[in-house]
Amino acid sequence: MPDIHNQSGLNDRPVDLVIFGGTGDLAMRMLFPSLYFLEYDGHLPDSLRIIAAARKDMTRDEFLGILDKRLQGVVGAGYLCENIKTHLYDRLSYQPLDVESGTGFESLAKKLRHKDLCDMVAYCSTAPRLYGQICELLEIYGLTGDTCRIVLEKPIGHDLQSCKDVNDAVGAVFDEQRIYRIDHYLGKETVQNLMALRFANSLFEPLWDANGIEQVQITVSETIGVEDRWDYYNDYGALKDMVQNHIMQLLCLVAMEPPTSMDADAVRDEKLKVLRALRPIPLSELAQKTVAGQYTAGTVAGKDVPGYLDEGKKPSNTETFVALRAEIDNWRWAGVPFYLRTGKRLPYRHSQIFIQFKGVPHSIFPDESNLSLEPNKLVIHLQPEENIKLLMMNKVPGLGRDATTLQEVSLDLSISPEARSRRRPIAYERLLLDILADRSTLFVRRDETEAAWQWIDNIANGWSALGMKPSPYVAGTWSPPASVELTERYGHDWHD
Ligand code: NAD
Repeated sequence: MPDIHNQSGLNDRPVDLVIFGGTGDLAMRMLFPSLYFLEYDGHLPDSLRIIAAARKDMTRDEFLGILDKRLQGVVGAGYLCENIKTHLYDRLSYQPLDVESGTGFESLAKKLRHKDLCDMVAYCSTAPRLYGQICELLEIYGLTGDTCRIVLEKPIGHDLQSCKDVNDAVGAVFDEQRIYRIDHYLGKETVQNLMALRFANSLFEPLWDANGIEQVQITVSETIGVEDRWDYYNDYGALKDMVQNHIMQLLCLVAMEPPTSMDADAVRDEKLKVLRALRPIPLSELAQKTVAGQYTAGTVAGKDVPGYLDEGKKPSNTETFVALRAEIDNWRWAGVPFYLRTGKRLPYRHSQIFIQFKGVPHSIFPDESNLSLEPNKLVIHLQPEENIKLLMMNKVPGLGRDATTLQEVSLDLSISPEARSRRRPIAYERLLLDILADRSTLFVRRDETEAAWQWIDNIANGWSALGMKPSPYVAGTWSPPASVELTERYGHDWHD
């Protein structure tokens, strides 16, 4: 039985956490299970209270009944513990409300503790079109002072203009310092470890530029299709759903200059410089530097699956796969390709950052050894496993008669074996804890979201202007052949 004494180290100011959309998929699959695990590990201060707010009219007990069933499905049996559930449920209440009509907000305001006593965090886990209205209502009911902060789920808009509209609506009510924009990839342990690897070691920094690095690849591949989110996905596609946020955030962490500290603005200023240095891909180069694909019926993990158009039952030019060659116009990265790739219904699920260093300038080994001489590579796996591996050349042990035989070996730079046996936290656990502690380093600032959209809009608008359509690929394969050509054209190969 874990000790539920508060080990968080957070300051003592109590927080009322209101989760708008508290009955939704994200809340039930990620937010409440994360809060459960934070409770389990003793990270939640005793003074925290949580209010789930959603449209469905039901009592607190009915809500807890639904939550209890969902937690049993999500939290592994080895971690389910009555004592912990009781502590979590004691903090929880439920508020039915409707953001469109404003009903229920008066009751919500009455449930919250006075701002002299307590901070308030409004977590928006509803459709983004409701964020502006939530802010207006919070203001009407006096819930927007210095002691209040707001959390926004992705996506922030579907292009630069709509992103600005959401940011304007929220910014009219909350100062930027009190707005937390979520990109849950930043909550992943390995992503934070990338910062440690780069900035807590002096080893890599002299190599971390165009002189030392040949190419960078960032891949987020999924085996699932769009499932019951077809209509939502069809308005976005892979470029806007994955590249604009997760993949561009990862690119920033790989490419940014060392920040002066881990202070939120120090880190975000450096990420912003990367986004602003991304070279827009001109119309004349779009066909060469971008690939869009759409899956057709095929087989994934031994199971027959339908094509994207069969699932939606209507015509669509939305891409379910995208591959890009990005370039960063600054001193450090001039000429280094950043290949970005993401898609659905690919052969296996993995997210990884692959960094290939330059090869040795001259080989002293005999010809037959040179065949196996590979450049060094750093591979950061984000999911399903989380680990960091450095691939190095080594001599095959033993007394070779003719030559030194070389082999590539993998050094595991990630967590220790003891840490590996521990439970791997959900990314939202880290993020929720930081929100409660008012630490915003792992959240995305307004100017970052807008700079990312500007680069993405240029590609999306270019595709429309040229009438480019996604090429079909069979579900369960690695995307259209054009994706392979995208890297081969520049003498590189995808690292699968
Ligand atoms: P969902 O449709 O499952 O849930 C929506 C929630 O909003 C429900 O609780 C519903 O009661 C509430 N709601 C809807 N209209 C309302 C209204 N008028 N007034 C008050 N409450 C209202 O959505 P979801 O999948 O949980 O997504 C929530 C947010 O999180 C979205 O912005 C989505 O883009 C984002 N997101 C979701 C996921 C995911 O895996 N589900 C992943 C990343 C981001």
